[in-house]
Amino acid sequence: SANLPGKHVTVAGLGVTGVSAARALAGLGARVTVVDGGDGEKQRQAAAQLEAAGIAVRRGDADTLPEPTDLVVTSPGWKPTSPLFAAAAAADVPVWGDVELAWRLRGPGAAEWLAVTGTNGKTTTVQMLASILRAAGLRTAAVGNIGTPILDVVLSGEPYDVLAVELSSYQLHWAPSVRAHSAAVLNLAPDHLDWHGSMAAYAADKGRVYEGNKVACVYNTADPATEELVRAADVEEGCRAIGFTLGTPAPSQLGVVEGLLVDRAFVPDRQKNAQELAGIHDVAASSRASESPAPHNIANALAAAALARAYGVEPQAVRDGLRAFRPDAHRIALVASVDGVEYVDDSKATNTHAAEASLAAYEHVVWIAGGLAKGATFDELVAKSAKRLRGAVLIGADRALIAEALRRHAPEVPVVELERTDTEAMTAVVDAAKALAQPGDTVLLAPACASMDMFADYGKRGDAFAAAVRALHNNQ
Ligand code: ADP
Repeated sequence: SANLPGKHVTVAGLGVTGVSAARALAGLGARVTVVDGGDGEKQRQAAAQLEAAGIAVRRGDADTLPEPTDLVVTSPGWKPTSPLFAAAAAADVPVWGDVELAWRLRGPGAAEWLAVTGTNGKTTTVQMLASILRAAGLRTAAVGNIGTPILDVVLSGEPYDVLAVELSSYQLHWAPSVRAHSAAVLNLAPDHLDWHGSMAAYAADKGRVYEGNKVACVYNTADPATEELVRAADVEEGCRAIGFTLGTPAPSQLGVVEGLLVDRAFVPDRQKNAQELAGIHDVAASSRASESPAPHNIANALAAAALARAYGVEPQAVRDGLRAFRPDAHRIALVASVDGVEYVDDSKATNTHAAEASLAAYEHVVWIAGGLAKGATFDELVAKSAKRLRGAVLIGADRALIAEALRRHAPEVPVVELERTDTEAMTAVVDAAKALAQPGDTVLLAPACASMDMFADYGKRGDAFAAAVRALHNNQ
């Protein structure tokens, strides 16, 4: 429990999470002060709103702890090295994230949490999971890092049976007491290391999701680091380690046999054979024209199925839920087919691990990449994908890093580097890609980089690509 009335709570950050947390806390009788280091227009607007609701705001100083403070509630973007947290530690004041707060505030008999984390695939998996739970007739919502703050759902008072919760490594870092019914770590690859400080710290935060699990810890057999996290976790007695694989599953695993998703984990003892769940074509995880879903989306479907089965969902509902699922925009979305070439928008592939999975789904690809590398290196990605590349078109601030990797590992692949950063640049990109593509090829926007050097976000980048492709389509 949280025991908030009268407590002095400092909320770190005036973003979506901070504002949602501040309002919730004030509503529960806490005396709230929101601090934010910035003092721009955005902060001013958020502050005006909160102040109108009687909540104190301190702008322009995020480093010192307001006096008195009994509890700090932080937004996920704040680095653990922020001076505010050092000040909190020195004063013995606990720091909670919004997820921790939601966990502490949930009522008696509240919904169980099925949690999903990992470097890539979280949103897709959580949406698949929610779709499956809905197909099973359960009252559920997809919440957390996915966009709907979990705090809002917990405090809404609406009755849920079970929540499909997407947790980022940032959120897990600040959620020490969350105990999921079951949880999955989809994969682990270097990302956000600037925030966490090291790969070990990043992995440890992801591994938190397994702590105290009741029924199942779901891991990826293709990613041994995820299984190690299960082994290191302190779970409730009887909680099982459940693997998922794109190959034939061993006992206690879910996997694929002859085009079917099958379950060898949650089957009655006497039933030796695998339980059939769905066909891989039931995984409606992409709008591309080619027949099969991308392998990484089959993996996401298996993880979602494992969590649902751990919760007791019947096979039929797994199939119906996967069929009903529709992916969000900019995740392997087919934009158009022009002159026998498919143009696919996977703008959400903002790191090398995601781009590698994306490229692996196609045989002959003209690859559009580049943007902000966030400290990543591209050698492994390029070396693994070289044989698929018909050509590459590179944009953005860090395009030279990718160009160098291509020269090292795929010297025969033609590369076009575009310096332009203006709003029409995507038209030039698509023209260059079209010139490299042959009928039957895929032109794939899977940038392996963040977008903010040229676009407001990955969505705007994908929109610009789609608009340029549609223009091509209309002019043909
Ligand atoms: P997240 O919420 O973790 O960012 P998304 O479901 O939004 O994940 O997918 C982000 C991108 O990661 C997709 O566009 C796709 O390129 C890639 N991706 C999705 N699932 C996986 C996976 N299981 N393994 C590797 N890459 C993946």
